[in-house]
Amino acid sequence: MARYIGPVCKLCRREREKLFLKGIKCYTGKCVLGKKDYPPGKKGKRPGKLSEYGLQLREKQKVRRIYGVLEKQFRIYFRMAERKSGITGENLLQVLERRLDNIVFRLGLALSRREARQLVKHGHFQINERKVDIPSYLVKAGDVISVREKSRKLDKFKEIMKLTEEREVSDWLKLDRNSFSGTVTKIPSREEMAVPVREQLIVELCSR
Ligand code: SF4
Repeated sequence: MARYIGPVCKLCRREREKLFLKGIKCYTGKCVLGKKDYPPGKKGKRPGKLSEYGLQLREKQKVRRIYGVLEKQFRIYFRMAERKSGITGENLLQVLERRLDNIVFRLGLALSRREARQLVKHGHFQINERKVDIPSYLVKAGDVISVREKSRKLDKFKEIMKLTEEREVSDWLKLDRNSFSGTVTKIPSREEMAVPVREQLIVELCSR
């Protein structure tokens, strides 16, 4: 499936917010946000006041960029969320959180969702002992995600595990560092999903 391949720091600058798209660099002084606090191509221009539509659009673009999802796929997720009972905004975030690349990132088995996506595509992961190389695969409660046996020996994973040692894992996930694996204990509620997004604005935009 297609994906955005341009410079990701520009996406944070566009949203004027840290979206943590680049892994370890995002947590260091190398992050450009704070140094270039203006949208790309708008140096010296004062930010104008956004219309209601503008606010909704920015929120949708932000969530797409956080999860690395293109417009077409996002619309499919939105329709899925609408069809489910409950609050559409919460349903939408739950679908996005259930993506395999997101779970791999949240477990600390990759430094960013982008890296997680690449590692999944290269066939380093399995779900319930079966190899899965589709980053958009939707994980269910009870699924066990693990790094495949032969991949565990790779320096790449040793490095990742070292760098994410201190990182906290979400309450709805359980990580076993010794076996390079994690379990989705349940589908998270809105409070358990640490995503800085006003999903109601997205619902208003996409329901038009
Ligand atoms: Fe965003 Fe990370 Fe780049 Fe900072 S380093 S601008 S948080 S992607």
